Amino acid sequence: MHRVRFRDPGGAVRTGEWDDDGIHFGAKTYDPEEVDFLAPCEPTKLVCVGRNYAEHAEEMDNDIPDRPMLFLKGPNAVAGHGDVVEIPAGKQVEHEAELAVVIGEQCRDVDPDEAMGVVAGYTCANDITNRNDQRREQNWVRGKAFDGAAPLGPVLATPDEVPEDARVQLRVNGETRQDSSFEHVVFSVPELIAESTSYLTLEPGDAILTGTPEGVGPLEDGDRVEVEVEGVGVLEHEVRAE
Ligand code: ZN
Repeated sequence: MHRVRFRDPGGAVRTGEWDDDGIHFGAKTYDPEEVDFLAPCEPTKLVCVGRNYAEHAEEMDNDIPDRPMLFLKGPNAVAGHGDVVEIPAGKQVEHEAELAVVIGEQCRDVDPDEAMGVVAGYTCANDITNRNDQRREQNWVRGKAFDGAAPLGPVLATPDEVPEDARVQLRVNGETRQDSSFEHVVFSVPELIAESTSYLTLEPGDAILTGTPEGVGPLEDGDRVEVEVEGVGVLEHEVRAE
């Protein structure tokens, strides 16, 4: 099932189901063109994972970490399908296509064997990054957590719809920049849930951004970005320089 949060033409926020016929809520069916998409979850925080693909660690001249490298983005970073994200002016801002795992229940100290039980579903994410400031600071607040730095969507796909080796791709203005698959990750979804919940409580709607494959690159004013995760769909957004 593909669950979608949206604002209907009357302005009401709804959660519906999106299939080939359109978006269904109650007895109504909407054309995707007539709704405003919202991020498919309302996180209290986004737990992000650095260097979870060996080839991306290599392209950045970093070692592969021996435990998941974690950082946070706040709810201010969330943007939705179809949004225009303002990127910091005069900075080297880059895209990072990622599979995001959305949590379905409050949880702490989750055993890896039971971790899939706390997963509500998967969505696409772009972990937009300001490299200049990321390189200058230990905690990547300017580098990673600015407003709109985490577009999510367009839907929440239940885990049965997403293959374990899901293809993860990103295009800018139609040109493919990233094309890999989840089979190349260093740490799996259960391992990431177990590790992060050994330190912090995850709430319903929180998401784990599972890291980006190789091929990260610059975003410029006016670029149109598409993040595609197999089994989820295509998240689209634009960027505008502040
Ligand atoms: Zn990332």
